[in-house]
Amino acid sequence: MEEDITAELSVLESHLDGMLNRVQHNSLTLKRLQAFEMRLLALNTLAEMIEFIIDETRLFFNLDAVCLSLIDAQSEIASCLEADHYAFRERPDLVLLEQDGVFLQSFGTAGQPLVGIHRDERWSRFFPGVEKQPASVVIIPLIRRGKILGSLNLGSHQRDRFINGMATDFIEHIASVIGICLENNLNVETMRRTSLIDPLTGVNNRRFLEQRIVEELDRSQRSREPLSCLFLDIDYFKRINDGFGHQAGDQVLSLVACTIKRQLRSNDVLVRYGGEEFVALLSQADETMNGEIAERIRIGISDLTIKYADQVIPVTISIGAATYHPNLSRKLAVPQIALELVQAADVALYEAKRSGRNRVENAGLVLEPRAVQS
Ligand code: GH3
Ligand code: MG
Ligand code: MG
Repeated sequence: MEEDITAELSVLESHLDGMLNRVQHNSLTLKRLQAFEMRLLALNTLAEMIEFIIDETRLFFNLDAVCLSLIDAQSEIASCLEADHYAFRERPDLVLLEQDGVFLQSFGTAGQPLVGIHRDERWSRFFPGVEKQPASVVIIPLIRRGKILGSLNLGSHQRDRFINGMATDFIEHIASVIGICLENNLNVETMRRTSLIDPLTGVNNRRFLEQRIVEELDRSQRSREPLSCLFLDIDYFKRINDGFGHQAGDQVLSLVACTIKRQLRSNDVLVRYGGEEFVALLSQADETMNGEIAERIRIGISDLTIKYADQVIPVTISIGAATYHPNLSRKLAVPQIALELVQAADVALYEAKRSGRNRVENAGLVLEPRAVQS
């Protein structure tokens, strides 16, 4: 009898030990999960977030393959990553998809994770560029407000690591936090970008110029290379509005912006400064090159054939040009140089208007050192 009780006690003790171990293990896992979430929440850029999701999830779950698929119908994610100089095309474990068809086919509308043995090539599309396809997988849709943002694709070389019917609530919890963070970050990035873009012409706005001109002047001072500015204003634009209507005027504005942009290099800056006025910043362009580019733009605009309701709208532009050279200009604080460079181009534009329009007036170098008085 006594022996029986002792045996039962020892069984109970070992059960208790087992339970205590499990509690300890669970509380450790919970702490790791909290640390994972805190780090994810602290990330600022989309590029950082993508790196973290792929690399840290792999470590967290000790997995052989992790891929992130994101729906990017408007190429907003791609342009945001490009603007951040993030070489996302070199990451085969990040997939940007134009359409959500793959997800709708795979998850249906219920949005349940796919769990189990890696079956066929339909599953491989969730693991592109992976050297050895995983043996078992969990593919969790990332859903926010009923909309699929993409999926987090986890794979293991062990066939029994992920089996159909297993509990996935832990992984789903992580996926829902990732979904919230991604959506939030995308919204912030979109807001940041759209707040710097003119909706009519698609080029940047004046607020963008204010930020970029400081960066461009800093760069010019470091590299000792010139920075040029063009101030452009469509001639007699009011007459176009009055004669053809504001919608025609809007079309002209868009086309003019597009034509100017085509004459610039990809790293040059073009902004819509106001109504029918544009400002361009040309890095590494001296006064001669600046004048030549301005002339090319002027000719490009006057050669346009803009048709509106069977009529041709004649358009010309006047341009003022000015150049700053860190070696040949007076030393002033960057905001002051910015002001004087744009002002000089604006004064030259006024001169171009005064002397007949459809012309370029080049102010040349600005802020030249004052002659020493004897
Ligand atoms: P100038 O050759 O001296 O520059 O003459 P202008 O007629 O181009 O200049 P003015 O400043 O008299 O007129 C500019 C016009 O641009 C007036 C304004 O109604 C129009 N405008 C400003 N913003 C927009 C816009 O977004 N769309 C359209 N359609 N018109 C605009
Ligand atoms: Mg005008
Ligand atoms: Mg004007």
